[in-house]
Amino acid sequence: MTEQGCLFCRIANKEIPAKVVFEDSRIIAFEDVNPQAPVHILLIPKKHIEKISDLTKDNADMVGHLVLAANKIAAEQGIRDAGYRLTINCNKDAGQAVFHLHMHLMGGRKFAWPPG
Ligand code: 5GP
Ligand code: ZN
Repeated sequence: MTEQGCLFCRIANKEIPAKVVFEDSRIIAFEDVNPQAPVHILLIPKKHIEKISDLTKDNADMVGHLVLAANKIAAEQGIRDAGYRLTINCNKDAGQAVFHLHMHLMGGRKFAWPPG
């Protein structure tokens, strides 16, 4: 399903260009336009899901699919052994700015914990 006017649906549909690093039938991964780390990739379902709190039993396996793809990309990008962070921001307090579910894969530097 394509949500009208959704930025990430438009990237998934190739209506807006992005540097795609991985794609299969269910998901697509591309470089973040404003990277916060040397490696900063966004992984999204092709189907529009607004946010992680909207997942149900019927589509919760999407998270595992995104994580396995992120692990594969991390290995390809050479950051698997050094470490990386996977982040999903849900709604306003977490800083979600684009309301199409996405997982951040970030690496290539050290990250503070706890996050700000
Ligand atoms: P959020 O804050 O919603 O978790 O993260 C949204 C992310 O999308 C941000 O890191 C932002 O830099 C990225 N972003 C926003 N617009 C675009 C775009 O048009 N193309 C790409 N590749 N990334 C985008
Ligand atoms: Zn969308």
